Amino acid sequence: MTQRTALVTGGTGGIGSAIIRYLAGQGHRVATNYRDPGKAEAWRKAMAADGIEVCMVPGDVSDPVACEAMIRAIEEKCGPVDILVNNAGITRDTTFHKMNYQQWTDVINTNLNACFNVTRPVIEGMRTRKWGRIVQISSINGQKGQYGQANYAAAKAGMHGFTISLAQENAKFGITVNTVSPGYVGTDMVMAVPEEVREKIVAQIPVGRLGKPEEIAYAVAFFTGEQTCWITGANLAINGGHYMGW
Ligand code: NDP
Repeated sequence: MTQRTALVTGGTGGIGSAIIRYLAGQGHRVATNYRDPGKAEAWRKAMAADGIEVCMVPGDVSDPVACEAMIRAIEEKCGPVDILVNNAGITRDTTFHKMNYQQWTDVINTNLNACFNVTRPVIEGMRTRKWGRIVQISSINGQKGQYGQANYAAAKAGMHGFTISLAQENAKFGITVNTVSPGYVGTDMVMAVPEEVREKIVAQIPVGRLGKPEEIAYAVAFFTGEQTCWITGANLAINGGHYMGW
């Protein structure tokens, strides 16, 4: 296989770590960003102990200037980014009539504007090299909406609008752009939800359990593969049957 440089934003999180492990296992050079140097170093060491060397650069995905610097630093350390996974994300849940502007903008900036901030500095290089794979990690709640998540659902739905536009603009340049929309996966983000609420969520999942980060990573690796060149603009739901929209 061809070794590529893959950037997974939010790689230190639950799903991001699994994606990094999977892509590293396929032989790619892997990179991610961090905000907290202490936390990042502990995570880097844990990955290194498992034989995975991750190129780590500082960068807040909600900050366009920081992202430009982050991409240039990664390119300098491990070469042009051929695979980009826009994975970093946050929640600031509350019903809309109680939501303040900060909760709205934090989520839009981190989940949606980050797609601009991180993708814009890599897209021209991909177009020049005539090869690229871009995957957005959206959410089931971007597809179906969710009580208490107007900000998150809006951002996640917007990510797929971004995907299908970029897919059209870049198809002739060997670049595919796709979305993965996970259902509820047992990471810190979901384990922060009160247990009784989690139990109610699991009761709605036909497969009968939360997803595993590796199950999301597997789909990302499919979309980023060399042979996956005729699938672009897709939105793959991975949710244990929780939502079966067309
Ligand atoms: P985690 O909370 O485990 O990880 C989130 C990651 O994003 C962390 O590495 C975090 O870094 C990083 N991050 C957050 N904000 C920023 C920022 N401003 N700049 C840079 N990095 C940032 O979440 P998951 O692994 O569960 O989620 C990953 C993605 O999957 C998210 O986009 C989420 O919305 C999506 N998703 C998750 C689902 C789930 O059930 N878990 C379901 C559907 C979608 P730091 O340590 O600095 O905070």
